[in-house]
Amino acid sequence: MIEIKKVTKRFNTKNGELLAVDNVDLSIQSGEIFGIIGYSGAGKSTLLRMLNGLEKPTEGTISVSDKLINTIKGTKLREARQEIGMIFQHFNLLWSRTVEENIAFPLEIAGVPKSQRDKRVQELIELVGLGGRGRSYPSQLSGGQKQRVGIARALANNPKVLLCDEATSALDPETTDSILDLLLNINQQLGLTVVLITHEMHVIKKICHRVAVMENGKVAELGDVIDVFENP
Ligand code: ADP
Ligand code: ADP
Repeated sequence: MIEIKKVTKRFNTKNGELLAVDNVDLSIQSGEIFGIIGYSGAGKSTLLRMLNGLEKPTEGTISVSDKLINTIKGTKLREARQEIGMIFQHFNLLWSRTVEENIAFPLEIAGVPKSQRDKRVQELIELVGLGGRGRSYPSQLSGGQKQRVGIARALANNPKVLLCDEATSALDPETTDSILDLLLNINQQLGLTVVLITHEMHVIKKICHRVAVMENGKVAELGDVIDVFENP
């Protein structure tokens, strides 16, 4: 499903070159919930952003659903990105638009006609448990509800992969659990592959099948969550 081969990412900074991701190899299976954990600065975000082409690797290759995401451009990259949804720590919603309009946005960009769009938006609102809130503005919602909008928007074009960038880090523990339950349901119902990055062990233990521990840009450990975290 996702093949990361010998991927390195260097940034040029005013203090010289910074090695953010260092020769990472990872294979993520279709339908898996895969967690990447590590301290701040370990390279998690950079790695995740390379999975949807927001950053380009300095070296190595990344393929998602057999498409080489690091070499395609233009229309091909936009099409490939429709198969990859992403959610964020601070939700990244459009604040002047309603819940419905936020969720409809990627459908508009994809050129889906209005009648189909409206139907899809209502399905998504039900799927994420936001029934009755379609006409609300993001500022009128709780953090958990905002993330539900983010999830609905990410799923609008039926992606095969959902990338989650510290998606529960701005939420209290109870809300975190409800969002993780939703991600688990979506994974099971839709067979969606989920890749999440977090600095919270609890998140990994609650929903991930496998985990990679990142340190200084490298994968320091990799395996089933039980083997990596729960063996004596
Ligand atoms: P994490 O998500 O694990 O906190 P990041 O991938 O955000 O780690 O960052 C890894 C390293 O790369 C850090 O040292 C960070 O400062 C650096 N970095 C990330 N993005 C950039 C950028 N656009 N320009 C320069 N340095 C960056
Ligand atoms: P996160 O908390 O998700 O790791 P950050 O707040 O660290 O995100 O980074 C937000 C944005 O700033 C990203 O686009 C990242 O690439 C960029 N960035 C992070 N560190 C640096 C850096 N040292 N120099 C320049 N850009 C950076």
